[in-house]
Amino acid sequence: MTTLDKNGSNLAAKPAIVTRKTFDQVMVPTYAPSQVVPVRGSGLDVWDQEGRRYLDFTAGVAVTSLGHTNPILADALCAQARTIWHVCNLYTNEPVLRLALALTQATFADRAFFCNSGAEANEAAFKLARKYASDKFGPKKSRIISCLQSFHGRTLFTVSVGGQPKYTEGYAPLPEDIDHIPFNNIDAARAAITDDVCAVVVEPVQGEGGVIPATPEYLQALRQICDEKNALLIFDEVQCGMGRTGTLFSYMDYGVTPDILTAAKALGNGYPIGAMLTTVEIAKTFSVGSHGTTYGGNPLAATVALKVLEIINTPEFLARVNHASEQLQKTLRGIVADYPHVFAEVRGKGLLLGLVMADGYKGRSKDVVNAAEAQGLMLLVAGMDVVRIVPALIVSDRQIDEAGKLLRQAVDALLKSA
Ligand SMILES: *Cc1c(COP(=O)(O)O)cnc(C)c1O
Repeated sequence: MTTLDKNGSNLAAKPAIVTRKTFDQVMVPTYAPSQVVPVRGSGLDVWDQEGRRYLDFTAGVAVTSLGHTNPILADALCAQARTIWHVCNLYTNEPVLRLALALTQATFADRAFFCNSGAEANEAAFKLARKYASDKFGPKKSRIISCLQSFHGRTLFTVSVGGQPKYTEGYAPLPEDIDHIPFNNIDAARAAITDDVCAVVVEPVQGEGGVIPATPEYLQALRQICDEKNALLIFDEVQCGMGRTGTLFSYMDYGVTPDILTAAKALGNGYPIGAMLTTVEIAKTFSVGSHGTTYGGNPLAATVALKVLEIINTPEFLARVNHASEQLQKTLRGIVADYPHVFAEVRGKGLLLGLVMADGYKGRSKDVVNAAEAQGLMLLVAGMDVVRIVPALIVSDRQIDEAGKLLRQAVDALLKSA
């Protein structure tokens, strides 16, 4: 078979040679990726084009929680790939029904909607909340309250609800009736949540915004105010859910139950899937045709997600996450103690942790990430003042030790270069 390019030349059978430079030549420049191009991964190990090994403490931004190329997930995906890939929404499929059963048995929810990403899960949640309030209380109850620094995705609705103005610049006109309040401030919430509010959305642990856990009092107060004002409480657990903070979902540890919960990231361990979970009462706002998506709950994605859920949602697995969290926090606190002029504190929950830059190093979290990469350790930022550390949940004590050593070497190198 011959494959022709747009000039009619035969494209060679062997794959093109591509490097980091190719990115600038062919990609829309929405990202500035590292010079390192990962080609292979196993567990927390990643190898680049040169064969150099890295210890991955990013998990693809809290996605590959069960490690790269997890063999159990790979087997499940391959078996499903030989069974059936896709059916349209005229038909349901067995994997998605099993996944919905498992998620509703594991959580407060009795209904699930599936899509392909966190943004889409939130988009569904915001649409559902607006329609629920409109049907029940009339069209004036449309206001959505969200927190400053929050992140809810990149569709026009979700960036507008998100609390970071830089992400909406240039995209006006934006969806209306959205207000932002300071996170963890109960008085501000009480003032903002008026009778025209249909929903309040919050991340139990803010991820992109700087790895900041909500206080239990804050989430309890939001629950109470929402009940008083007939507003729905939406927890965006796209980043902090699926075992990341030590319980299957963060709301379980806080003991505050939302009306709608969104999940994505680790749900598919890298196979794209998002979910919106809610109660039967709220779910029935949507009827046939109210909302939809071609791929949502596709058999491949649902098969992987069900396996992920089965592995994560056991007492032993979650106990291990909490143990690893203690080990990692101890390691990081040791680094803060030894480099107090570089790092101010460790914060976060479970294996969603942040190292906050000290005053003298404000704005330089990316320098730490770059220095760590040079030592063979992959880390993330959460804004300019926080280094975000989110290893796969299967991280071992040995890998935590190794990451601590590499991070110390990185900071030493950074100090020497300054
Ligand atoms: C990543 C993230 C999203 C967006 O998810 P996408 O899959 O990128 O659309 C939404 N909310 C939170 C809290 C996130 O961390």
